[in-house]
Amino acid sequence: MDTIAALSTAPGAAGLSVIRISGSDALAVLGRVFRSANTAHPIQMQPRKMVCGSLLGADGSEIDRPMAVWFKGPHSFTGEDVCEIHCHGSPALISLALAAIYNAGARPAKPGEFTKRAFLAGKLDLVEAEAIGELIAAETEAAVRNAAALLGGALGRALGGVYDSVLALVARFRAVTDYPEEDITEQEIPEMCSALTAAAGTLSALERRSLAARAFTHGVDCAIVGRPNAGKSSLMNLLCGEDRAIVTPLAGTTRDVVESRAMLGGVPLRLMDTAGIRDSQDPVEAQGILRAKAAAEHASLALLVLDAGIPVGEEDLRAMDAARRAEKMIIVVNKCDLPDVHYEVPAEVKSTGAPVVYMSALSGDGFDELEQAIRTLYDSGELLFNGDVVTSARQLDAICQSRAALLRAADALNSGFPPDMALTDAEFALDKLSELFGRKASEDIVEHIFENFCVGK
Ligand code: GDP
Repeated sequence: MDTIAALSTAPGAAGLSVIRISGSDALAVLGRVFRSANTAHPIQMQPRKMVCGSLLGADGSEIDRPMAVWFKGPHSFTGEDVCEIHCHGSPALISLALAAIYNAGARPAKPGEFTKRAFLAGKLDLVEAEAIGELIAAETEAAVRNAAALLGGALGRALGGVYDSVLALVARFRAVTDYPEEDITEQEIPEMCSALTAAAGTLSALERRSLAARAFTHGVDCAIVGRPNAGKSSLMNLLCGEDRAIVTPLAGTTRDVVESRAMLGGVPLRLMDTAGIRDSQDPVEAQGILRAKAAAEHASLALLVLDAGIPVGEEDLRAMDAARRAEKMIIVVNKCDLPDVHYEVPAEVKSTGAPVVYMSALSGDGFDELEQAIRTLYDSGELLFNGDVVTSARQLDAICQSRAALLRAADALNSGFPPDMALTDAEFALDKLSELFGRKASEDIVEHIFENFCVGK
């Protein structure tokens, strides 16, 4: 394969930048642009030994004094000869350096091309390759930990048993379809069914955890809903730690949806403070109320804010109807700092089964309880983020299709259909697992994955 090069660190001024060169000519290309400092010889490199020297521009003049290292293939990230130049991070210097490197025989790398070469050389499976993209894009601690574990091969280890057992089942089904004298015995059927359902069960647990984990890795749209003056804007400001929304004792001040971000209980929230829900003749406020309802309807989470200082009324119930349209709801009884508050959550609200948090947006009391309620809502305690969840839609789809096919195979077997029916489904399930790790992925899938990387990765 031809030799490629690119800046692997982020562009822009920095203490250091790393340029990566990969391919059979990597060392020769390095030799044309780099002179080691201590010897008259143009370049004297030993594998994995950092060398200090001069970096030369395309015109042969010195442009930096960087360090360089050579990883001799196959003991490198891509499996090919790889050289790295660790130079100073000036955009002007990098563009001169890359021009010199391209002039010396490398060509610019395409997005994701280093990782794609690593995958093609068998250094990484597809899940591990995608984990690099996820690690780079990770915005939360949970996402970092999980992607790092996936990069270390956690999913391959977790699903290795499932793969082997499905492979054994496929082999058995194939034996009986290929050799008419072979047959699945009466005793074998329940054993095979339970192996199929056990494999499906492992996949469906992974699917369930992965869907739950999306809240922690991708974040949640969270609408703050309630009657005017319940303290929605105050809550929004408390949660995001700044005066984002206007707080006044006047009802009906928030007209448009005000957005901000906060991290609560490990869940990144995209907060939306909405107009108080009530009957309004004011056309602007009425428009705001419609937007509030739409925000709640599309949100993953609604915080229904009730005012502990006043009994629940028609407006709260209407707000509750809007909040219930979100996937999940938490009831926030606000203003609990007011004197003589003995607030009883009314039966209509209690019957929703949503968790109730008593707090004061003014003093901040109850903040920890709200944080805990959010955490528990999205994680019943089973998420470890040690590679036990997948976040890519492609991976989730492969797992889901494999699980469904395994259950179809078990069903066919249980219902007394001929073994070739179960064989088709079991083979499909195995193919989907192979595709997951890239053992059988089509060129299109592979192209699509690496296209989504940036240059230098
Ligand atoms: P919104 O209309 O629901 O957004 O309510 P605001 O956040 O604008 O608050 C309305 C009024 O209630 C303001 O005067 C706030 O200072 C007051 N308020 C908000 N939260 C609390 C609270 O927890 N305790 C008390 N005592 N007053 C609050």
